[in-house]
Amino acid sequence: MGNPTDHLWLHFTRMSSYRDAPVPTIVRGDGAYVWDSEGRRLLDGLAGLFVVNAGHGRTELAEAAAKQASELAYFPLWSYAHPTAIELAERIAALAPGDLNRVFFTTGGSEAVESAWKLARAYFKRIGKPTKHKVVSRDIAYHGTTMGALAITGLPGIKADFEPLVPGGIKVPNTNFYRAPEHGDDPVAFGRWAADEIGRAIEREGPETVAAVFLEPVQNAGGCFPPPPGYFERVREICDAYDVLLVSDEVICSWGRLGEYFGAQRYGYQPDIITTAKALTSGYSPLGAMIASDRLIEPFLHGTESFGHGITFGGHPVSCAVALANLEIFAREELTGRVRTNESAFRGSLEKLYDLPIVGDIRGDGYFYGIELVKDKATRESFDDAESERLLRGFLSGALFAAGLYCRADDRGDPVIQLAPPLIAGQAEFDEIEQILRAVLSEAWQRL
Ligand code: PLP
Repeated sequence: MGNPTDHLWLHFTRMSSYRDAPVPTIVRGDGAYVWDSEGRRLLDGLAGLFVVNAGHGRTELAEAAAKQASELAYFPLWSYAHPTAIELAERIAALAPGDLNRVFFTTGGSEAVESAWKLARAYFKRIGKPTKHKVVSRDIAYHGTTMGALAITGLPGIKADFEPLVPGGIKVPNTNFYRAPEHGDDPVAFGRWAADEIGRAIEREGPETVAAVFLEPVQNAGGCFPPPPGYFERVREICDAYDVLLVSDEVICSWGRLGEYFGAQRYGYQPDIITTAKALTSGYSPLGAMIASDRLIEPFLHGTESFGHGITFGGHPVSCAVALANLEIFAREELTGRVRTNESAFRGSLEKLYDLPIVGDIRGDGYFYGIELVKDKATRESFDDAESERLLRGFLSGALFAAGLYCRADDRGDPVIQLAPPLIAGQAEFDEIEQILRAVLSEAWQRL
């Protein structure tokens, strides 16, 4: 028999790592746990990839998929509708904040981001502002891999191979307060500064050229940067002042991750568009969506006008049926409320790790945390590239897995461990996460 990776091309993966070593192969899931092909149980500390919010092994979601596939496996949303898409769009519109009433389905997050940028451009063309086409987004932020979404992404390392990119992607600072020593301990001043940087970028580029600002409620890449107090309020003011659309990229931050259906609700701001995907179905079938305001669809509602954009599998009937069943579980088990009730316990369990010399910063909200690792706690000195390579790739990922915790050790910004367990997790799982991290991080420190 050949090697499992002879034909399977893994995403964002150094394939050479698995030429002579076995690729971890996950075969089954139940609740907050998954099992690999060797029968080893792992706590799923990342809900797959911020996806399995309702937890693994939900047969009712599998049954919803089977029922829909038997009844109507597929029909497009191109000039036709099907009942599950109609019902789901209505449901999402009811849950989404304010007048975000128009749901354009995709198959995933990159396509939702891509759709939002296309809508922003087409909308401004329709209303007589055709030069508004650029987008502002933040350093280190990840917004997907398709060419448009990649241009919005702020990670130089994953862009270089694919240049030249779609022009018009403008970068501004993110809200990494831990790495903003000039703002001391004043998060309000820092938030004001970071938001005003968006205004300054729009001024620099020319407001007549800027269509949208793409921001996550909590920025994932770099290790969970929550918004400082007042940040989104100020961003909203800036967007209104320059007639620039505020796109809340909630591919991770919606569906309970932050204790509300949408991250914008958690921080009390009103976007013009929300992009979502991942946990909309808890991963039992792929689905994404762009949720737009009434104002944005308006120019497309008349005469011969249409939004010239579509995706064959966007709003797939099976995925929509699964999403409806998933949202039933959310309502029945009050998963968003569960996160609000438990989030301080989660934070408390993680914060116990502050006694380790390698733990510099623990940040996040809801069930979404990043732990930044440092070489020197007092100076906040980070690891250099070689150390980071040895620490994250050479040791941590494998050691955490071997100790029974699936999570992510990432160095796209400074080295961080990211945690986002299924929303059904509770104190027992928080304790297990803390204990495994304690043991593995202590060993990492010894090895350094
Ligand atoms: N936007 C954000 C904020 C994301 O976190 C992701 C994926 O992690 C994407 C977009 C891209 O989503 P997908 O991988 O479903 O294309």
